[in-house]
Amino acid sequence: MIFGRHINRYYLRYLHFLLIGLGALIAVDYLQLIVPNLYQMVINGLNNGWVTVDGVELPFDMDFVLERICTPLLIIIFSMVAGRFLWRIMFLGTAHRVDEDLRNRMFDNARHLSQSYFQIHKVGSLMSLFTNDLESVLESFAWGFMMFFDALFLSALALTKMFRMNWQLTALSLIPTALLLASATVVGKYMMKKWDIRQEAYARLSDFSQESFSGIAVIKAFVKEAKELMAFRKLNEENEVANINHTKASVLLRVLVMMFVESVVCIILGYGGYLVWKGTFNAGELVEFIGYYTAVVWPVMAVSELIDMTSRGKASLKRIGELLDAKPDVVDAPDAKPIGPIRGEIEFKNLSFRYPDGEFDVLKDVSFRIEAGENVGLVGKTGCGKTTLVDLILRTYNVPDGTLFVDGHDVNSVTIHSLREGCAYVPQDNYLFSETIAENISFAVDGSTRAEVEEAATLADLYSNIQEFHQGYDTMLGERGVTVSGGQKQRISIARALMKNAPILILDDSVSAVDTQTERVILKNLRKTRAGKTTILIAHRISTIQEMDKLLYLEDGRITAVGTHEQLYETCPGYRKMVDLQKLEEEGGNGHA
Ligand code: ADP
Repeated sequence: MIFGRHINRYYLRYLHFLLIGLGALIAVDYLQLIVPNLYQMVINGLNNGWVTVDGVELPFDMDFVLERICTPLLIIIFSMVAGRFLWRIMFLGTAHRVDEDLRNRMFDNARHLSQSYFQIHKVGSLMSLFTNDLESVLESFAWGFMMFFDALFLSALALTKMFRMNWQLTALSLIPTALLLASATVVGKYMMKKWDIRQEAYARLSDFSQESFSGIAVIKAFVKEAKELMAFRKLNEENEVANINHTKASVLLRVLVMMFVESVVCIILGYGGYLVWKGTFNAGELVEFIGYYTAVVWPVMAVSELIDMTSRGKASLKRIGELLDAKPDVVDAPDAKPIGPIRGEIEFKNLSFRYPDGEFDVLKDVSFRIEAGENVGLVGKTGCGKTTLVDLILRTYNVPDGTLFVDGHDVNSVTIHSLREGCAYVPQDNYLFSETIAENISFAVDGSTRAEVEEAATLADLYSNIQEFHQGYDTMLGERGVTVSGGQKQRISIARALMKNAPILILDDSVSAVDTQTERVILKNLRKTRAGKTTILIAHRISTIQEMDKLLYLEDGRITAVGTHEQLYETCPGYRKMVDLQKLEEEGGNGHA
């Protein structure tokens, strides 16, 4: 049994299934405890030739065996089979329902969490919550529930019968059982700690595997397979040690249980044998008593299993609870309203920004204005804050009040959803899903037609490339789109953003992997289709941005120049240096060609 804020609700929600299961379980326990009494009758009948039933002595003959032994035994066996089937269906069916609901809640909450959460919690650790941890919580929930009540009823029924037969013998057999419960509680606590360490080791291993497979190209290119293997072995070894330590604790508990159980058998045989010798008990009754005690052994064993299972379940539930309780950092203000149709005017007013875990301001006193419908290029050295700046427009992080405005609305006064709905984004890593090209392009637009997908692909100069694929738009992309080139990936991402046709389009270094000819085509198409809508383009190549309406030059988190390419070339030394350097490189490149 496992309890906690996130699991208690399921006991209530599925109470009817659990009660039916419990009813079947109690019936099975009750029937099971009739069997030792049948043994007693057979043994006493064989010894004496007669059997006492409800104070009446009946001859032990064929009729008695058929009527009083075989028929009830058959009924018991069939009823127990039916009962066991029923309770399994009820408990395990409930576990599957809880599994689905809990998984949905975990995914749903994870989906709402902010970017910063995923920077701290790696994919591998999150995956182990959805696999290992969820499994151990459900095990405690369903099997734990069943074992708890089975142990409770079976031992209560069996002990009642044992007490009725001989209370001294029963009391004697309970002494080791009490000792067992005390020691099992202590070992249980120790095991919970070991399980926590085990899960942490597993999460580290799973993080590492996930990163290694994602970065396999880098590992191979740098011939670092051996280094990775060594690091993996080390983590795997830690995982092994954690597993062994947990298993040791678990084995210790089992050995303790066995020791106590065996010692009780010794007591029953010794003291029970003495009672038979004294004449207080007969042989049949001793067998019946042992029969009841055998029925108690399983609940006692179950207690140890239950402690082990519950300690694992509790540790896992704690981790799952942390995910379910995690709150997004970036949320709507209580009075936030939808922004409504966006024109595309953006204004930064003395905005300074530092990442939540950062040590310095990445953007410093940034002020500029982009008019609705303008084409703006964002330029500057790597690390100067370009991506950060556009991330803020998308409200990926919190900004102070009164520093960032869209269409004159403070971004903190409008809902995040409505703001993001008005933006299309081509991120730097161009993440593609393992779906078809068409599905990737139409990702942002529900119910789009093939013609619309084709139009977006044409605008991103992707059309002829797609014709080359055997299955055209229905070509499946591998994990992270590995079956297409970097340039194709960029253009699929651009097509995906263009398909949205949003009032604000942000392209973060999105044409860096395409050749200049393709770049020219894409930029021409962008100018045509984005007329009247705001477009912000981050780029390093001057050819990409020189025809933009306006350029913003960022230097170490500050906007140091705003103007056209020609104006910046005249007035901004940093920009001029960058342009001249690129010209030189191009000439050098051409010269060598
Ligand atoms: P650019 O796009 O111009 O190359 P970025 O906006 O990506 O620059 O980064 C600007 C600065 O912010 C860099 O110093 C970078 O190390 C830092 N930075 C970027 N992302 C984060 C983050 N998630 N947490 C902390 N610092 C970050």
